[in-house]
Formats: sequence, C-alpha cells, structure tokens
Amino acid sequence: MATLEFTALGGGSEIGANSYLLAAEGHSILLDCGLHPKKEGVDALPDFSRLNDVPEAVIVSHGHIDHCGAVPYLVKRFPSIECYATPPTVQIMDRMLHNSVSVMGTLALEQGIEGYPLYSHSDVDLTIRRTYGLDLGREFALTWDSPFTASFHHAGHVLGSASILLQVEGHTVFYTGDVCMGDQELMGGLTLPADGVHVDTLIVESTRGAHVDVGHATYSREVERLAAEVASVLERGGTVLVPSFALGRTQELLNIIARLIESGRLPDVPVYASGLGRAIYEVYGKWGEYLRPDATLRPLSDFARIGDVWERGVRRELLRKPCIIVATSGMMVENTPSAMIAMDVVRHTHHAIFFVGYLDPDTPGYRLLHAEPGERVVLESSAPPVEVLLENRQSFNLSAHATREQLGELIARIEPTNVVFVHGDADAVAWMRSHCNGRYRGFAPLSGETLALEA
Ligand SMILES: [Zn+2]
Ligand SMILES: [Zn+2]
Repeated sequence: MATLEFTALGGGSEIGANSYLLAAEGHSILLDCGLHPKKEGVDALPDFSRLNDVPEAVIVSHGHIDHCGAVPYLVKRFPSIECYATPPTVQIMDRMLHNSVSVMGTLALEQGIEGYPLYSHSDVDLTIRRTYGLDLGREFALTWDSPFTASFHHAGHVLGSASILLQVEGHTVFYTGDVCMGDQELMGGLTLPADGVHVDTLIVESTRGAHVDVGHATYSREVERLAAEVASVLERGGTVLVPSFALGRTQELLNIIARLIESGRLPDVPVYASGLGRAIYEVYGKWGEYLRPDATLRPLSDFARIGDVWERGVRRELLRKPCIIVATSGMMVENTPSAMIAMDVVRHTHHAIFFVGYLDPDTPGYRLLHAEPGERVVLESSAPPVEVLLENRQSFNLSAHATREQLGELIARIEPTNVVFVHGDADAVAWMRSHCNGRYRGFAPLSGETLALEA
C-alpha cells in the first residue's frame, strides 16, 4: 500500500488556514491546523467539511497562528483526537492561543463578528493539557493502532519549529512546515532527516516563491543596514519603532539590538518590548538547547515594558527621549501596540518606523510604508486618519523563511518522488512548481483539492 491521499483543508495556493489532511489505510491525520490570517469568524477555520472521518491526530509544526490557531476548535469538535508538537511549541501555543481568545473576544464585542471567539480560554487549557510535547528526532506512533509513525526535525524558523517526517507502510512524507536554511541571531538553520531516508512525498512551504532573491541582501547585511539606519535616527534625537511579529522576529530583534548596543554600534538607549512578545520571550529562556549553540539570549529584564499604549500620555512619554521600541503587530494591524504608537510617531519628522517582515497590502503597515509625506492614513478605524509627516519609513528583509533558491536546493538534496507546494500565494507556488525542475512530480493543489500520491 503506497498511495497516500493529500487534501489541503487550507493553505493550498495561499497562506491561509494551513492544514493538510493525509489519509492511508483507512486512517487519517492532520499536519497543522491554523487560522486564516485575513479571514474572520468561522471563515477563518480550515475547511473541516472535507473530513470524511475523524482524524486520529494533529501534528503541529510550530506556534504561529496560521499553523496552530484552529487546534482548540478541532479538539472541541473531535475530543478523541491526539495532538503533538515539540515541547517549546506546546508552551508557545499556550500563550499564543490564549492571546487569540482575547483578540477574538474584543473583535466580537467591538465589531460583532459572528462566531467569535471560536473557542474559550478553557478550550485552550484543555488543548494544551491534551497536547504531547515530543523532542526532536524521536520517533512516535500516533495512536495504538495507527499505521503512521512520525518524528520532528529542527526547522530553523522560530523556537520549537519542526519539520515532520511521517511514515506509513510503503510511503514516507517530509513536511517542511515553515523553514529557514540560514542562521538567524538565535535560531540555527534547519536540519534534514538522516541520509538514507528516502522521501516519497515532500510537502514544502513556498512563502517566498514569488520573490526574486537579492543576492546582496543576506541576513547579516540587512542587519548591518538596519544598524546604520537606527544609529543615525538615535543620534539625531529620534525614536525608532520596529513593528514586529510576537513569535520569532521580536526575540531575534531584541537580541540583535542588544548585541549592537554592547558592541558600541548603537548608542546605549532604552529598548522596549511589548506584551505578547515578552510572554514568548520567557519561553525562549527555558529552551536554550533549541537555539543556536553559540546564541546569546539576554535576560528579558534587559528590555523595558512599554506600558499601556492605549493611553496617549504613555505614548507621548515614550517618545520624549531617543529609544528603540519593538512592538507587535508586525503588519501594524488595528488595535495593537505598534499601530497605537505609530499614531504619535508619524506626526513628527525626526523619528523612524522600520518594518522587518512581510506586509500584506491590506494592512495599515503597508499603507503607512507606501504613503506620501503629508498623506492622511487610517491606522485605527475608530480614530480619524493621521497626517503622516514622518518621512523615514523603511523596510528591511529579516525573513525567517527560506528563499526560493534555497527551497530549490532543499528539494534537490532530498530527491523526493512527489513535491507538493503549499503555504504560498498562487504566483509563489506556481513559480516554485514551474522552476524547481527535477525528476519528481510537482503539485500545486488548491485548498479543497485532493491528490492521490503514488510512492
Ligand atoms: Zn511561521
Ligand atoms: Zn506560516
């Protein structure tokens, strides 16, 4: 028996509610179970109507909400399902999912979004209690009678992130999850399964498939460019706001900034970090063995708390003296610390806002980055548009995702029989499928489409 059925319940030709159903021998499992970052209410869930049977397990690659945000809903609906993740990911999920409940609760109250919250704090508690934390490299059976065995492999993306090697009689699958090949400040690049393991089906992320690699814009050169720009703003008495994702980017950036201050590259100014990023930072502090062996993780107490930025007085106080503020969210979505602080930062000309990750064109962050000086931009729909006097708004590429050339090299090294491109916009997966040529069968399924994969 070597045929495996693959269905994307979300994340097919999109970065959506990433969740992939694999079925063989009358058994089925899910790889990841996320919420769609751009949809709301029940529309944000993976398409569970595609499930013919109750899956026996869900294996979570890492703690970003587009990979784990729907797990409590799944557990509530199918109480018999088993959940697996690495131990750091379990602790990160705990913080991320509770935060999601709070965000969904606020949106339900303020905007009346139907179906929110999709689950409660006690559903999250139950999910976390039910999720097995299993270390990297350890093979495990999914249930007592499951034909599937699995193991986690370091993916280099964020703390605890793992690729998943899945084996069923006659068919071996390697799901990359989100991967990063090169070293970051804290995370080391991915490790592949041991030589000698033949992968029949590789399921690979395609986030950067539509992005031309800029040869010179390597991670360390981007850090150098950021350092020079931040230094010149601080030296002129300005403050730098860096909108940042709570998991991964925030912890990496805080330690990059601390290193630059220690080495004298940046003036010794206060560095602030916002709430969820701090909560995740604590988890980083517990799992040094998952970081690069020579990584230096500073104590969280080195970074100041931002305070209640919904108070105008707190924001004004924050901007009185030069400082660096690392605040969620990375795309500056409404009602988050970065959006609130930006409302004041953009009214001045001597500060700067430096974006360090992907910006969706529908987000306030994107609108702000591309606004003309003097243009009025809506940062909060409950507040009037703000006139953007600030000119120093830039974007730096500190992505924690493999480039498309690196993904091509990964495929060449693994030499799989089938490659399923997922987790990328339609143009990204299409590019990957047409350019990563080799002696394999390439697939770019849409969400909802089922593939029969032969080993
Ligand atoms: Zn991710
Ligand atoms: Zn992702």
